[in-house]
Parts: sequence; structure tokens; C-alpha cells
Amino acid sequence: MRIDVLTIFPGIFEGPLRESLLGKAVAGGLVDVRVHDIRDRATDRHRQVDDEPFGGGPGMVMKPEPIFAAVEALEPPPGAGQPRVLLLSPAGRRMDQSLVRELAGERWLVLVCGRYEGVDERVVEGLPAEEVSIGDYVLSGGEVPALVVLEAVTRLVPGVVGREDSLHRESFEDGVLDHPHYTRPAEFRGMGVPDVLRSGDHAAVERWRREAALEKTRRNRPDLLGPDDAPEG
Ligand code: SAM
Repeated sequence: MRIDVLTIFPGIFEGPLRESLLGKAVAGGLVDVRVHDIRDRATDRHRQVDDEPFGGGPGMVMKPEPIFAAVEALEPPPGAGQPRVLLLSPAGRRMDQSLVRELAGERWLVLVCGRYEGVDERVVEGLPAEEVSIGDYVLSGGEVPALVVLEAVTRLVPGVVGREDSLHRESFEDGVLDHPHYTRPAEFRGMGVPDVLRSGDHAAVERWRREAALEKTRRNRPDLLGPDDAPEG
């Protein structure tokens, strides 16, 4: 899988692309992530990538030309057609695990990071680019959202997560959140561990986990549940 990231702050990606699972996936060639500086595609002597908004108002808007030029300069991976281009934007479709699964099936993704007041709308219309939000809040730039997309998608690339069975047990996989987890010590500051988890009865552990996952979902995210998931009695 190839993921190209377009940004005016390429340095933000250096640490995250070196560390942990994402770093290993990149180093091991499971994902080919390339970060490009949009400023390299500016044509004026000041390498300007933003300008004042038509219609007036505060702030600056990212110009379309350097972004189009940066996308058009990308070298396609062998055998890939057109990339799926995402523009990170709080005004986009809100990302969830089903979108992440869909993106993980793509051969080539391009992530465009906005800054300032945002990006000239012709990037959405003309590239075209799909607007994707990581949640209902506003950050200062698209770099952290792009890292969120990178990490969420890369986890689903075969070989990245060591025990892939753990992926099937995670929050959102069955429409519920993950069950609570415990490790040693069995007693910590007066807090114990549910006896069933230390019983060695695998069927009972499974039943407890299913019920505890439902209970956590009812408490933290009731919106994920249907009427059949209401507690009995
Ligand atoms: N004026 C924009 C609005 O109100 O929708 C906000 C622009 S924000 C300050 C600058 C950039 O940060 C955006 O162009 C986008 O790339 C990124 N950004 C901020 N919040 C985001 C979010 N929740 N999801 C995805 N990208 C986000």
C-alpha cells in the first residue's frame, strides 16, 4: 500500500513514522509512506502557499495551484490507477472504523493536510478530493488528522499487527466497544480482578467478556446499540 502525504510541515511526520507499529510497518516495507512539502510546488520566489480569502474575512486560505501540482507530480505505484485523495477537514465525512476498513483496502491513498482557514474549495471539486474529518472539533492543521488516518489504516494492513486475531476483538468490530482488560497484579490498591478471568474456564471468560463489552458500550456509547441490546429484566 502507498500513502502520499501533502503538507507544509513535513517535519511533523518524522517521529511518528519512525516509532512503534507505524515505524515498523514503514521500515518493513508493509506500507510505503511518502511525505511531500507542498511549498516545493509553489512557483513564486517566496514559496507562497496561501492567500487572502475572496469575499474578505480573517485568516488565509491555501491556494489550489501548489496542491494540484503536488498531486500531479506524484509517481504512481506500479499497477495502480488513480489514487483515492482525501482532504483532511473538520467539515468532512466523519471517519469511523468502517471507513478505515474501506481505506485499508485501497492500493494508493493521498492525504492532503490543510492549514489556516482551510483549503480553496476547488481542491475538493477539481482533484477531486473527499473531505474527511477525524471528529467534531477543530485542530490547527491536517497533519495530526493525517497521522490518525495513517495509524488507523496501517493497523489493518496484513502483517502490521503481530496477532491479527486481536484486530477482530477490538472496539467497533462487532458494533460494540472492547471489553475491559486486566493484567498482573491480581490485587492493586485494594482493587481486584473479576474471579472468572482467573478461573481457567474459557467459555465463562468469553461470556463475561461479551457481557462486560455490552455493559461498557451501554455506559459509554449507547448510540452504538440497538433495542435488542438493552439489559434484560
Ligand atoms: N475553517 C475551518 C473550519 O471551520 O471548518 C477550520 C480550518 S482548521 C483551523 C485548519 C486545517 O486543520 C483544516 O484545513 C484541516 O486540514 C485541519 N483540521 C482541523 N480540524 C480537523 C478535523 N477535525 N479533522 C480533519 N482535519 C482537521
